[in-house]
Amino acid sequence: MRAVVPREAVGGSAERTEISRIPVITTVVVSALYVVGLLLGDRVRFEVIGVWLGIGAEVAAVAVCVCAVLRTRLTQWQVVFGGAAVTAYTVGDVYYLSTLQGQQAHAVISAADVAYFAFYPLMLGALAVTVRKLKGVTWPLLLDSLVGALAAASLMAMILAPVLRSGAGGGTTFEMIVVVIYPVLDLLLITAVGGLLASRGLDLGPRWLLLVLGLVLFAAADIAFALGVQDYVVGSAVDTGWILGIAAIALWIDGVARGGVSFRHQDRGLPAVTMLMVSTTAAVAVLIIGCQMPIAPLAQVLAALTLLLAAVPLLFRNRMLVTLATTDELTKLPNRRGLVTDLRGRLGGRHSGALFFLDLDRFKDVNDALGHSVGDALLVQVSERFARPLRPNDLFARLGGDEFAVFLDGLSREEALVVAQRLQAELTEPIQIGTASIKISVSIGIALTPENGTDISLLMRKADIAMFRAKSTRSGHHLYSSMDDDGGARKLRTLQELRAALVEGQFELHYQPKVNLPDDGVTSVEALVRWNHPLLGQLPPTSFLPLAEEAGLMPQLSTLVLEAAVGQVSRWHADGLTISVAVNLSGSCIQPDLPRQILALLEQHGTPPQRLMLEITEDMLMADPVHSAKILARLRNAGIQISIDDFGTGYSSLAYLRDLPADELKLDRSFITAMRTDPRAGGLVGSIIDLAHSLDLRVVAEGVDNAETLVELRALGCDLAQGFHFAKPLPAAKVAPWITKHALPATATSLLG
Ligand code: C2E
Ligand code: CA
Ligand code: CA
Repeated sequence: MRAVVPREAVGGSAERTEISRIPVITTVVVSALYVVGLLLGDRVRFEVIGVWLGIGAEVAAVAVCVCAVLRTRLTQWQVVFGGAAVTAYTVGDVYYLSTLQGQQAHAVISAADVAYFAFYPLMLGALAVTVRKLKGVTWPLLLDSLVGALAAASLMAMILAPVLRSGAGGGTTFEMIVVVIYPVLDLLLITAVGGLLASRGLDLGPRWLLLVLGLVLFAAADIAFALGVQDYVVGSAVDTGWILGIAAIALWIDGVARGGVSFRHQDRGLPAVTMLMVSTTAAVAVLIIGCQMPIAPLAQVLAALTLLLAAVPLLFRNRMLVTLATTDELTKLPNRRGLVTDLRGRLGGRHSGALFFLDLDRFKDVNDALGHSVGDALLVQVSERFARPLRPNDLFARLGGDEFAVFLDGLSREEALVVAQRLQAELTEPIQIGTASIKISVSIGIALTPENGTDISLLMRKADIAMFRAKSTRSGHHLYSSMDDDGGARKLRTLQELRAALVEGQFELHYQPKVNLPDDGVTSVEALVRWNHPLLGQLPPTSFLPLAEEAGLMPQLSTLVLEAAVGQVSRWHADGLTISVAVNLSGSCIQPDLPRQILALLEQHGTPPQRLMLEITEDMLMADPVHSAKILARLRNAGIQISIDDFGTGYSSLAYLRDLPADELKLDRSFITAMRTDPRAGGLVGSIIDLAHSLDLRVVAEGVDNAETLVELRALGCDLAQGFHFAKPLPAAKVAPWITKHALPATATSLLG
């Protein structure tokens, strides 16, 4: 048993555990003796021993609480507050008895009442601690609690009316109010506990039933006391409620401190409607009694209010259900169902307009790398960004995952394109989540109505096809055209063709020189794959790599590319050209078997590992940093060079680079392009270069396509540059001639030598 109750272990040795049970056993035994004594009455002179047994049980209960607080070392506020409540009440009783001085009872109220009163805020505190664990109290819970409180008040108004009425003949009005307030507070506590029990995910500990029992006993005693307040003497049966109540609450606290799993955890506790059922039954009972005998009008009014309020959720249930079913919980936007419902209305009215499908790029990587809560926060912020340029009448929905949809009435083709650009531009600034600064982009597909159709599902399909097109061409947005049609079928056909291409060897590598900036020599090239499609001609990698990745064909393709590149390097070497080759690897290829596979390949061709470099994009590394760092370290230890590709497009921090086994950093093309227009870009590039150097990494500038940028890069100390300014990716046969013609000293010697 002890194994499943971890806090027992925290409490210390088994011996201490046994000691802590003594107050519990004492409380149970003394309470039992009290009850037996009460039943035997005169035969055991209960009026004498009863008082002592009662006080004994309460003091033992305090000891139980002290042990519970010590056991949990003040870490559980439920235990601390509950224990303080029990102690306050007992202190009140001890004071009451010690100041009796031979009387049988004090006046209606005494100084002890201060301690008695303290019991309630402290107990409420214990319950509030539990509520704090519930994120955002939902309004049904609040409503249920209000119904419960009203029903309780109605009951009290009925039961206690005689007390209030007789008030004039007994004590002062103030005394009567004090006496009446206790049962009201008891019922409020019971209501609160009922509400907590009925809400999912809250836990009042394994012995929650004892808490309910204790509070009910308390309420019964307080009601009985209020009704017979003039006749009360110490040691009468009324005391039983208080004494056993305190004992039960102390045992509940002991249960909380011992921990263990309450069966309510498995949602087998009170059903959520229990509170409502009990409350309405009580209210109906009050009304029925009101018909049979005269009761306080206030009680009837309260009972009627209870029933009215209980009916509210029923009235709104239908609306609530509709709202729930058409709203996305995370972003509070309409969901797919909401979109369709709204669109149906708009398209039915023969509106013209544009439907945009928005799909975030590489959202999965963010989710995998930074966790789902960051992913969720990102989606919320992205949805807020997209909402910025929209007007209230525009339809904006989340379709699920990282997909959103927008519908704008009365938009022309040109206007739709402008809107798409504006939506894209909303993501230019990185999104800040905690300490992470996340740069994300979106691909947008657009379908126009009535041009592309007036039927919802047709329009949605076309927007989806256009989106897929925007994504696969990395164009940002794409307006549906009939050429994109039979999208699904086309994708399938492409997939079949891709499989065939792998088997038939329709892939070819082109090589782009990486130029050493100090001397313009070329000692390495990057291999870039091309697909020689039998019908469509040569296709760029961006048009088929996403599909290959999606279809799980990447490892196969990478193997082909690696074999071709290593083979080519060894052929160049045989021809006297000593250059190394860089191969791009997708994240899915970084598998534990990769080092072995590559080393075998190198050995087969007699190529030194130093001739091969692997380019891996920053975000691929971030997706599973520990795992990939391990594999890369093995490759690098074997002599293979590692380059971090597209650096700056992901969301890794520069500090993270320190832990990466890498030789080279490739600054993404977007930075280099920006240098022409944005003076700040140069500064940024300069500081990245400095930092990379301090980490012993070479820096390659990608996409250098003009002389000015090159001059600036040289001045900033960049090590290598690659781009159309020097050369486009070249077929293998053209590499050696290009180098002979263009490249200067370093290569020339290696070529000639
Ligand atoms: P990358 O690794 O960033 O490769 C550089 C891309 O930029 C190449 O496009 C290249 O043609 C292009 N480029 C080079 N200089 C310039 C320039 O001055 N201006 C402009 N606008 N572009 C320039 P490419 O060949 O279309 O490759 C695109 C991407 O496809 C590559 O980006 C790489 O991520 C991926 N890729 C290419 N081949 C392979 C491969 O064999 N395996 C894997 N896994 N990915 C590959
Ligand atoms: Ca690359
Ligand atoms: Ca790159």
